Amino acid sequence: MGLATYLEKTTMSLFAQLFSSRPILPAVPDYDPVIRQVEEPDMVVIPLDYPRHINYLPTVEAGEKVRRGGVIGRSRLGNCKLASISGKVREITTVWTAQSVHSPAIVIENDGGEGLSPEEIFTDQLPPDNPVAALARIRSAGVNPPWRLSGRDYGEEDISGLPPLEAVVVTGIQEEPTILTSQLLLAQNPDKVAEGLRRIGRLLPETPLWLTVPEKELAWAEKHFAGLARIAAVPAQYHGRLERELVARLLGRRIPNRNSFISHGIVVQDVEYLLAMVDALDGTSPFLDKCLTISGTTLAKAITVRFPLGSSLRHVLASQGLQVADFTRPVVGGPMKGVAQYSDLTPLTYDSGIYLVSEDLTPFDPIAPCIFCGRCTRVCPARIQVHLINRMIEFGQIESTGSLHPEACHECGLCAHVCPAERPIVQLLHFCNREMTHGERYSWPERGKQ
Ligand code: SF4
Ligand code: SF4
Repeated sequence: MGLATYLEKTTMSLFAQLFSSRPILPAVPDYDPVIRQVEEPDMVVIPLDYPRHINYLPTVEAGEKVRRGGVIGRSRLGNCKLASISGKVREITTVWTAQSVHSPAIVIENDGGEGLSPEEIFTDQLPPDNPVAALARIRSAGVNPPWRLSGRDYGEEDISGLPPLEAVVVTGIQEEPTILTSQLLLAQNPDKVAEGLRRIGRLLPETPLWLTVPEKELAWAEKHFAGLARIAAVPAQYHGRLERELVARLLGRRIPNRNSFISHGIVVQDVEYLLAMVDALDGTSPFLDKCLTISGTTLAKAITVRFPLGSSLRHVLASQGLQVADFTRPVVGGPMKGVAQYSDLTPLTYDSGIYLVSEDLTPFDPIAPCIFCGRCTRVCPARIQVHLINRMIEFGQIESTGSLHPEACHECGLCAHVCPAERPIVQLLHFCNREMTHGERYSWPERGKQ
């Protein structure tokens, strides 16, 4: 290829990328398919306010001895927090979680003691195919209830009066392209996933059941799960992986971002929790260890580990020979939706990823002016006027943003990723939506009319 042709092609490609609504996102260059077990740490910190609106009350006191698998906190509805190591409760204090929530937490010091056996944990007999008893068992085993509490204003009190279930979506692929936990668990446990789907089918015989899988695994998944669930292939690109977009595509309904799926009769459950549900129902093991993918801008391979809940970021990284000091910033979650951490002592609980950034990320201006290039609006899957809303928020006109519907934002991070001015777009939207929580809500059109 001649130099002129090369330059022309390169320029065209840069130009195309500038105006593309499918920007190139961080990805993993390669990965280790083996899920590595992280050893027990000297101490775990178990937050009591997670996910977001479930509040657990401690059932133990400082100084008390606990055993791995024992209940240490319980919510009003019977969701349980369990000790992920055996030891002594050092204190009940408050911590900042990886999601930047200030939460009460139980600190346990490891004494190397033996954990409870399954027979000591699961003492009741489970009647077969009884949804109420199954739900109680799942809750008691420390598994998230079989739905994602993703609505921003969703609390436990909202459980009563929920509409009948219309669909269950089990996700075998995560939104963030750098998080591989669901894909690996799906690929490595097809029989157990099939058993989980079978169980849901028996517990909820009238409810349509979906399993989402990576597009390239469609033929494999159809072979293993035929007749157990409707299989949905999910494309590799980020827009198509976003849960709200996925649910809209599968069910023909767009669920407002401020509502939980369950408040619309939809259960969205990751495959990791499906597997944990099978263990709980079989009485083989409660949910004490979580999987998480470690990736980063300079890591040649992504690593997926399984760690005791409440382990610190430092402990999980050190188990793989990594330390925060070697990176500019650790982000818990993925590069698009994750939260940068200020301390490597942050406890990890229901987190599925750590993304380690190595580059110097200092923006050239803490809040640089918008140049109205429009890239943010072009990439936005919620199709909102991102730059206009941002300017309004910046100048204190939050009320004026209402007609532009900032609450439709997924907080997917695409706008900030492509913004040449490196503006804190998602943060401004997040604060705007917090401010407007009690304001009027936008309702998406009913099914089939969007
Ligand atoms: S974070 Fe919100 S505003 Fe930005 S691209 Fe995603 S949905 Fe659109
Ligand atoms: S916020 Fe950033 S991406 Fe959006 S128009 Fe302004 S400069 Fe461009």
